[in-house]
Amino acid sequence: MKEIYLDNAANTALDERVLEAMKPFLSTEFVGNANAIHDYGVKAGQAITDSRKIMGESFGIDPQNVIFTSGATESNNTAIKAVCFSELHSGEPKKKQRRHIICSAFEHASVLNTCKQMEEFGFKVDYVKTKNGLLDGSDIIPLINKDTLLICIMAVNNETGVEITGLNKLFETTSEKGIYTLCDCTQFISLGLGDGDFEKVRQADFISFSGHKIKGPTGVGALLCSEKGLECVKKEPLIMGGAQEFGSRGGTSNTAGIVGLAKAVELEAQEDYRSHFLFLKNHLIEQLQENRVIGKVLTQSWGTSVISLCLSRYFEKYEIDSLASLLASYGVAVSAGSACDANHDETQGSFNPSHVLTELGLTEKEIRCTIRVSFSKDTSFEDLDILVERIVQVKKDLDDLSEQ
Ligand code: PMP
Repeated sequence: MKEIYLDNAANTALDERVLEAMKPFLSTEFVGNANAIHDYGVKAGQAITDSRKIMGESFGIDPQNVIFTSGATESNNTAIKAVCFSELHSGEPKKKQRRHIICSAFEHASVLNTCKQMEEFGFKVDYVKTKNGLLDGSDIIPLINKDTLLICIMAVNNETGVEITGLNKLFETTSEKGIYTLCDCTQFISLGLGDGDFEKVRQADFISFSGHKIKGPTGVGALLCSEKGLECVKKEPLIMGGAQEFGSRGGTSNTAGIVGLAKAVELEAQEDYRSHFLFLKNHLIEQLQENRVIGKVLTQSWGTSVISLCLSRYFEKYEIDSLASLLASYGVAVSAGSACDANHDETQGSFNPSHVLTELGLTEKEIRCTIRVSFSKDTSFEDLDILVERIVQVKKDLDDLSEQ
């Protein structure tokens, strides 16, 4: 049985060119610690400096404003905690401190849970619900008050693929008012940077993402910071240690990972995958219709790289634990929602419905029958034809079993 991979929102395969760029730093001969003073160290240090420069050029920002991290989770934690702890330690009396955070309710767990943690430190957090899965950044503006310190809003949702509109307007307002903003761009960047759309998030104080969503290595990511954002991180680093990353993140630099991340970003900067993803999305919808698979594409007209597909009506007669797990046994790799939530299920040993799908108003049965199909530049029409074929096969097998 041919296996097909349609879970690129969870992880992408390394691009060949990324692997080539990393190889010298993964070889048995490479020994350099980027902070060491000898030639080996200098070589590693130079590779990191070059990578930072590539990042700067690709995003059109000062390389000194790039912090390499272990991924978006760390980047998000770093940004939120740096802003909040800088405020707490500002020396201002409590009454004068700004203790209000606004956070969209469909952020990734690394943002939501960090904001929740900040409540324990005396911050009040407003979680903004979407309207049927959609969110317009400018709708957040009326929620701003004189105590608002930070706004966390992602650019593209990783479970539904929805692109958030109105970010430009929101970030213009927050810049005027001196409010910090964190924009999780993990899913957004996987659409490619070549169409100039980065402009709409440029004004955010913090931009976070991970390498493994853009055909780069896993376990490395970045936090792009504004000047004032960087100041907070330098004052309140999440990871205390040596002077790496200009004192904003301790720990021996992951040279190979950083080189790979920079290469992946450089490639993304030249690409715009939206039209390819849109072709794929439309083809999938056509194939489902042709094969009479009754389904609902959640937030259908929005987003391209991620399709959240609810097939509860197609499987109406059956009690399905998780359609994604069932399809896995048919050689199809899709997910049930966010991979992070899915892992959580395993450790908890119980069904843990995605907060994003719950917020969309789906019932438990609908959530169990929802799959997230996510594309990469290498996804083909054939992959999608196989997906639909296997969905039909699952149904047929269930029908056969129930008739026995
Ligand atoms: N934000 C978003 C939108 C994500 O999709 C993910 C990964 N699922 C993260 C943050 C966290 O990334 P990582 O696991 O690489 O730290």
